Amino acid sequence: MSDQAHDGARRKFLGTAAAAAALAAAPGVFFWQGVARARGTDGASSEVRWGMLIDTTQCAKGCDACVRACNEEHGITSTGRPTTDAQWIRKLDVRDPATGHAHSLPMMCQHCEQPPCVDVCPTGASFKRADGIVLVDKHICIGCRYCMMACPYHARSFIHEPLQDQLPHAPRGKGTVESCTMCVHRVDEGRVPACKEACQEAGYGAIVFGNLHDPESEIAQRLAKEGGTKVRADLRLNQGVRYRGLT
Ligand code: SF4
Ligand code: SF4
Repeated sequence: MSDQAHDGARRKFLGTAAAAAALAAAPGVFFWQGVARARGTDGASSEVRWGMLIDTTQCAKGCDACVRACNEEHGITSTGRPTTDAQWIRKLDVRDPATGHAHSLPMMCQHCEQPPCVDVCPTGASFKRADGIVLVDKHICIGCRYCMMACPYHARSFIHEPLQDQLPHAPRGKGTVESCTMCVHRVDEGRVPACKEACQEAGYGAIVFGNLHDPESEIAQRLAKEGGTKVRADLRLNQGVRYRGLT
């Protein structure tokens, strides 16, 4: 088969598979509005790059306010199988063996500028908006899980169970992959992500959210003054999520 014919056959296969996956994921789930918004240019401009700074010196061990807020915001509930439950954000307690320095920190999709999940996705379901937010288009995700294998941060979850009573702003479906959306539905309304809000309300203020491209923003000023670590910076993914206090 010539390269051209092979490409055509592959596109046809992927188109068919994507259509089947969309149908499988569709019952009771109205994906179209949210995806159109995410795929569109409304609300997403390359003049903005949304990012987060996690100040681990302010993050309390044992506090999971951000995790609970994320689950509530997106209608994520336990299936009774904790090992495969969706986790868009998780709390990690880590310790540097060399110094003994311990940290408690939230880990979620790092919204990479060069996202491996997007590179490997055969259907284009994994995509990055102009403002840097990385999302999954559930209509055309075929559940191959290549993105889960490619993500260095184990940020993505596969949905094994049928889901019911989903929230209109957080479409989800069995057989598809999902991860932190940086609360894109809130961001497009000028609000902050649910985890940031919950951390603030819990009295810690460990999460700063804002436009990395705006030198006047709190996040840009904090990063300029205090610096920020990109986890696995050696991978050169230029994540939108940075950490303070790790070193
Ligand atoms: S952290 Fe993982 S899922 Fe998120 S953009 Fe990077 S590679 Fe993709
Ligand atoms: S599982 Fe991941 S790589 Fe596969 S189609 Fe869905 S988003 Fe793309």
